[in-house]
Amino acid sequence: MKLLLHICCSPCICAPMEELMAQGLEIEGYFYNPNIHPLLEFRRRLKSVKVYESTKGSPFPVHYCEDYGLEEFLSTVAHEGGKGHPHKRCEDCYHMRLLSTARYAKEHGFDAFSTALLFSTHQKHELVKEAGQEASSLVGIPFYYMDYRHLYEKSHAMAKKRCLYLQSYCGCIFSEYERYAPTAMHLYKGDEKETERI
Ligand code: SF4
Repeated sequence: MKLLLHICCSPCICAPMEELMAQGLEIEGYFYNPNIHPLLEFRRRLKSVKVYESTKGSPFPVHYCEDYGLEEFLSTVAHEGGKGHPHKRCEDCYHMRLLSTARYAKEHGFDAFSTALLFSTHQKHELVKEAGQEASSLVGIPFYYMDYRHLYEKSHAMAKKRCLYLQSYCGCIFSEYERYAPTAMHLYKGDEKETERI
């Protein structure tokens, strides 16, 4: 079977890809992620998938949508209030990405499509599955469901060994806020003596 696999980052795919290739699936990747912000973070994750793809022994080609899609993403989730409704926001985000994947798969002669979002323990697994099934019926191409969450830790350990980029939040500006708002983390610490006086 010729399968188009939606990919949003490199760490989640290392271990599952080995298993999928061993099953004899013919896999090509599809990078389409207007949900990754800001721009330099988008470039880091894109580059990391390219590094993975070009690593010796890495056996599959990837099709890249390299446009930074901030406006596209915001217009998809803004009507829901973005930050205030994470469940609906993520549902729309999954739907946007999997619909594009399904269309690309259909137009380019694949037998089915799937997504590496199903490999992550941090994603809303059931919502991802539903978004895949919905895209499948809208476009008319099978959604290949799989669950490799049990390989998540192993996959990230493999990525670390290969010096692939390990992101610290899901992707959108809202998830970056949710990740860091409860912390006191700053990139710039300033002059700590001056700060104490203020
Ligand atoms: S938290 Fe992640 S899945 Fe949800 S909208 Fe943001 S990028 Fe998309």
